[in-house]
Amino acid sequence: MTEEPKETSAKKSLNFIEEIVEKALQEGKNDGRLQTRFPPEPNGYLHIGHAKAICMDFGIAQKYGGVCNLRFDDTNPQKEDQEYVDAIQEDIQWLGFRWGNVYYASDYFQQLWDFAVRLIKEGKAYVDEQTSEEIAAQKGTPTQAGTPSPYRDRPVEESLALFEKMNRGEVEEGSMVLRAKIDMANPNMHFRDPVIYRIINRSHHRTGTQWKAYPMYDFAHGQSDYFEGVTHSICTLEFVPHRPLYDYFIDELKQGRDLEDHRPRQYEFNRLNLTYTVMSKRKLLALVQEKYVSGWDDPRMPTICGLRRRGYSPEAVRNFINMIGYTKYDALNDYAMLEAAAREDLNKRAIRVSAVLNPVRLVVTNYPEGQTEEMEAVNNPENEQDGTHTVTFGRELWIEREDFMEDAPKKFFRMTPGKEVRLKNAYIVKCTGCKKNEQGEIEEIYCEYDPESKSGMPGADRKVKGTLHWVSVGTAVKAEVRLYDRLFSVEDPGSDERDFRELLNPDSLKVLNPCYVEPFAAQMPANSYLQFQRIGYFTPDKESTVQNPVFNRTVQLKDTWSSQQKSQA
Ligand code: ATP
Ligand code: MG
Repeated sequence: MTEEPKETSAKKSLNFIEEIVEKALQEGKNDGRLQTRFPPEPNGYLHIGHAKAICMDFGIAQKYGGVCNLRFDDTNPQKEDQEYVDAIQEDIQWLGFRWGNVYYASDYFQQLWDFAVRLIKEGKAYVDEQTSEEIAAQKGTPTQAGTPSPYRDRPVEESLALFEKMNRGEVEEGSMVLRAKIDMANPNMHFRDPVIYRIINRSHHRTGTQWKAYPMYDFAHGQSDYFEGVTHSICTLEFVPHRPLYDYFIDELKQGRDLEDHRPRQYEFNRLNLTYTVMSKRKLLALVQEKYVSGWDDPRMPTICGLRRRGYSPEAVRNFINMIGYTKYDALNDYAMLEAAAREDLNKRAIRVSAVLNPVRLVVTNYPEGQTEEMEAVNNPENEQDGTHTVTFGRELWIEREDFMEDAPKKFFRMTPGKEVRLKNAYIVKCTGCKKNEQGEIEEIYCEYDPESKSGMPGADRKVKGTLHWVSVGTAVKAEVRLYDRLFSVEDPGSDERDFRELLNPDSLKVLNPCYVEPFAAQMPANSYLQFQRIGYFTPDKESTVQNPVFNRTVQLKDTWSSQQKSQA
């Protein structure tokens, strides 16, 4: 009885593709089968935009008891590589999804070839020997019919012979293509005798040199869906105008067979575009090749492996995708939303540690020389089960330079002469002064501690306004800390007229060295989720070692960036 509201609220939150799938299943379409696929071209690493497609393709199959396969759209050996095939699989698994089968469009090269030959024999395709420029010039405009190619009505035997030659490497790359003969006056430009095969003289990462003629996307994608039994072929909005051609080729392929209408259908949702970054694989590849970043997994990259190295959890990425949702309208999503999703998730899972990024020495002058004390630090106030670890207190500590001011305004609740402040998990101390060098820079700060004020002791009740983090000079480990900022300095580099290289943010990486971290932090394995207390979320970099730890800043504790932008504007 109380079930009902639950169900209606679940209904309300369906996205439009879920509604379509639910309806199809209710109507018993496709024998009640649901099959999707995620079809990356292995010509680069996956990025956060792909994560949106992955969450849809895999997520919907999971939700409705269907299957999602992974299909590599490997029809262009010029740009594809096994390295990408492997990386794509790793990233999908990291995001938390499992495919049914792994397929390759190249598995269907023979079937696609046979289909193309059949179209030629039926007078529905021909070899065109014009240049691509000539072909483009004849296309016409959406309101003006195109001009037929002089080769359009050449004899079937001629086309068949030339198509064979194209594939045997007997003719030069670019000298001829195979075109479907459809309708040069069709208002949908994709119907104006689209190119369906071209010559590429490159070894393919799976089929080697077996083929020289390769199918175009429009001739491979829908057919691959059909061969595999895909029911819902979900993609992004830019493929809307391709959909009629998708259906056309499947109609031709079916040729009346399979009288029940079992066929894949294409549905489109909006792409993910993020501010201050680019999603085009061509541009991301250029950033890698031209060494603007350290690799595909540079923590500033919008790639899945970059986000992983930056310290994002798969849950944070998935939550972000959930937050933005699926619509039929393109939009630009705010990078700050991605960061908000990371903060929300990391707040729950990050282990709290102490690290001092801009160190200055603090001497507790009344603390006995040579003495140390172990104190308990809570690992995660959000999750008691994460337990505690010990931190070592001593006479000399590192604290943040910004936490001291010699002449502080009234509201400065950190360290300043004459005032008390708590050292996290330890004592209340009163600042007594500092030592400066000839340039007037602070070299050392002095304070006295109150032995009765140790955290947890009766004397600890006294109210002090500020609590500072610190690490012990005697036990702290020297570390490198990498602070990252937006990769681009303009909001929408993708649609800027200028070359994207000119739009890179020169301050996107700041390396701090030496910083000091407590030993517990230095021992954290790669991909641990950490909070440097009072600073932000961090993760050990893949280059980190226990002796020479390196940390990447995932995200700051607060969204100072948005407010900075506002005050600058
Ligand atoms: P390129 O940048 O080379 O054009 P692509 O973005 O089209 O590549 P594919 O490997 O062809 O990359 O994409 C695989 C799938 O991921 C496709 O279904 C595509 O629609 C989807 N996809 C790619 N980019 C985005 C994005 N920004 N948002 C949502 N889905 C995306
Ligand atoms: Mg593509």
